[in-house]
Amino acid sequence: MLKIHFTCPLPNGLHARPASALEQRVNAFGAHVQIVNLRNERQADARSVLAMIGTDILYQDPCELVITGDDEAAAFQALQQFITQEFASCDESMPPSQNEIDTPLPVFLAQTTAEILRGNGVSGGLALGVAMYSGTPDLYQLAEREVATTPEVQRDALQAALQQVRMQLRDALHHAQGEAATVLQAHINLLEDDLFERALLSERPARNALAALAQALDELSAPLRESRSSYLQQRVLDIQDLGLRLATHLCEQPLMPETVLRQDTIVISPTPITPGQFLALRGPHLKGVVMGAGGETSHTVILARSFGIPLLSVEPAEITRIRSNEPLMLDTRYGVVVLAPDAQALRWYQLEEEKRQRQHLRLQPLIQRPGVTQDGESVAILANIALAAEAEAAFAAGAEGIGLFRTEMLFCERAAPPDEEEQYQAYRHVLQQAKGRKVVIRTLDIGGDKPCDYLNMPPEENPFLGWRGIRLYPAFNAVFTTQVRALLRASATGPLHIMAPMVTTLEEIKWLREQFQQTEAQLRAEGIATGIWSLGIMAEVPSVLYLLEKAAAYIDFVSIGSNDLTQYFLACDRGNPQVRHLYNYFDPSFLQLLTEMTARAQRAGIAISLCGEMGGDPSALALLLGAGLRQLSMSVSRIAAAKAHLSSLTLASGEQKLAQALASDGAQAVMMALKQQVTAAAKPVVDPALILLDRPVADKAEVIKVLTDNLEVEQRVISGPEVESAIWQREAIFSTALGFAIALPHCKSAAVSHSSVSLMRLTKPLAWNDEVDVSLIIMLTVSEQEKGDHMKIFSRLARKLMHAEFRQQLLDRALPQDVAELLAQEIAG
Ligand code: PEP
Ligand code: MG
Repeated sequence: MLKIHFTCPLPNGLHARPASALEQRVNAFGAHVQIVNLRNERQADARSVLAMIGTDILYQDPCELVITGDDEAAAFQALQQFITQEFASCDESMPPSQNEIDTPLPVFLAQTTAEILRGNGVSGGLALGVAMYSGTPDLYQLAEREVATTPEVQRDALQAALQQVRMQLRDALHHAQGEAATVLQAHINLLEDDLFERALLSERPARNALAALAQALDELSAPLRESRSSYLQQRVLDIQDLGLRLATHLCEQPLMPETVLRQDTIVISPTPITPGQFLALRGPHLKGVVMGAGGETSHTVILARSFGIPLLSVEPAEITRIRSNEPLMLDTRYGVVVLAPDAQALRWYQLEEEKRQRQHLRLQPLIQRPGVTQDGESVAILANIALAAEAEAAFAAGAEGIGLFRTEMLFCERAAPPDEEEQYQAYRHVLQQAKGRKVVIRTLDIGGDKPCDYLNMPPEENPFLGWRGIRLYPAFNAVFTTQVRALLRASATGPLHIMAPMVTTLEEIKWLREQFQQTEAQLRAEGIATGIWSLGIMAEVPSVLYLLEKAAAYIDFVSIGSNDLTQYFLACDRGNPQVRHLYNYFDPSFLQLLTEMTARAQRAGIAISLCGEMGGDPSALALLLGAGLRQLSMSVSRIAAAKAHLSSLTLASGEQKLAQALASDGAQAVMMALKQQVTAAAKPVVDPALILLDRPVADKAEVIKVLTDNLEVEQRVISGPEVESAIWQREAIFSTALGFAIALPHCKSAAVSHSSVSLMRLTKPLAWNDEVDVSLIIMLTVSEQEKGDHMKIFSRLARKLMHAEFRQQLLDRALPQDVAELLAQEIAG
């Protein structure tokens, strides 16, 4: 037995935040650690935050950590260091949360005169609906309605309620999938926590069981509320959620009238809503949620994202400005809710919806087709995901498989690793969604820039060159083996590709294979089924290039992690701004490495793909095609654009661009050449799709929005709102009304990808500025890369518009095609 004696250095005593830091350190060891408050002799297991808070350790209280067990010496050393060097600083104030409250709104939306509230859009989207408050019932008040009972009756009632809720949750878990199952599992764990049960069943001076429950919930949640750890904050919502479930078994009357949404609704809740409340509200009429700040990292947010429900988190004091039953327009992409929206805000909603539908329609045929070049070369486009719940959206967005499921999210921001069952459910969910399509799941990649507090890894001088990825597995064998078991079990659902990160040597590869084989044998001995699985590695460390031949006997595939491979090959930390200029995957030497890696893997009979950011970068696509890669995995949001870009490339052009890049002097030269090629291969400046004839619009702001939206749909701008804003900046300097009822708004902006001339002919004139009405608008949007042409096109058009005949032709021509031809002729001069 070893003891660490200390005086509590925390001005606010041992509350949730420092207790959770201590618990995370203790969890790394097998030894039992007891914390003792020598002032009042209260003790607690240092693995339970809730229990430690109960020891009532205050500032300057004498305390002791009592450590017993096999690894007590190692635990003593680590905890001694923690207590003397870090413990006191666990009590610093919370950092301000980042938010979008100050981000300017798009010009069109900013012109609304309706009242608005700003907040953080934690699940992005657009919604229109009527406000409905969803309150959490006050259990103390409800307790007053119920009859008074003795402590014995209370205890029996609470025990029975506990049993019933446990059964209900287990039953629900049986039928649940994906994130909903994860949340249920977390609730079951909480319900089975000793401390939860003790708090619930301890004798209290309460009117009845409901009041006793309310007191127990307060007791359990109070210390967690102030916590800096998002994990602990989430637990308050989970405790409330369980409390409500228990309460329904303690009330004679219904706890809350069941809420059935009968019209499109935006649910308002001054307190963060619980996952259970969210799931109960979900249905076709739940359009969005506005809730009090504090639940940004909760399970509710994860659920909202996976169901595509916009969710805005707002300061609780502000929320009360929303009146029940008033219409709302919610746009969480810009962190805004408009109260009683006026015509301008409603029009914003309508125009954004139209744009979304047009974008969807335009990309739909392409999205559902496999990736293919113009000349018929197949390049599979897969998705990178970090949560099982993202799989559905990934396939809907056109993913031909999941090329990288990063499992870190399952492990991080929590107090202990997920158990085998929780992991199994997550992996199985992805395989079920895939319906036989390829799924690659990566084993845990902790270390470097990806911390995981409960593993209690020591600080390192060079974390990126240190204890990371596969290098950690032998030391955390229990955590790793649990993941391997869950993966192998999941392979019974569908063929599974499993790969490990940060592999450097052949020994590691052999060890990896052995672990999987041994675990599979163990599962078989237990009578547990496994299916078809194959093993691969990430190519992140350059040494992999020279291992491929020997590795072929042990692995089936390799996936290039260009993010890390770039940093290790070019020896520059990917997060260090001082060496950012060196970190560039367009570096010709790096491109040479990729080319050779691909060729060597193919020669060794190992399938090769790429899953770093480079895969989703449109300007890198031709080079990857040229290098021989035929499988790329990327963020879901990049898939449609990648397929679109791929369909404009040929194998020969890819090979030629790669050869040119390999011969270049450096990354900048490669990027410059690619950019020029993109603009050279660009769309013509004039196109019938940019000509909008005889269109009714309300005002100048709508003209500019409709034209920039159209550029967005036609994929000629990188950001519509930025181009819109650049046009307005010009307008602020001088009006672009030219005379003859014509306006020539224009801008040159980095947000323009393809220079364009758009035209809108109105059904009736509208005011462009105070004095001038216009009925024809020609809008010029020029890309930053374009040199000089902006002014040339502008002045040529302006000159041409002086001619009555040209103006008349623009007004007379019946079809967009005819108008486009006329404009193209004149611009060409
Ligand atoms: C990579 O390194 O390219 C990769 C995909 O892994 P991560 O970004 O998760 O480190
Ligand atoms: Mg990596």
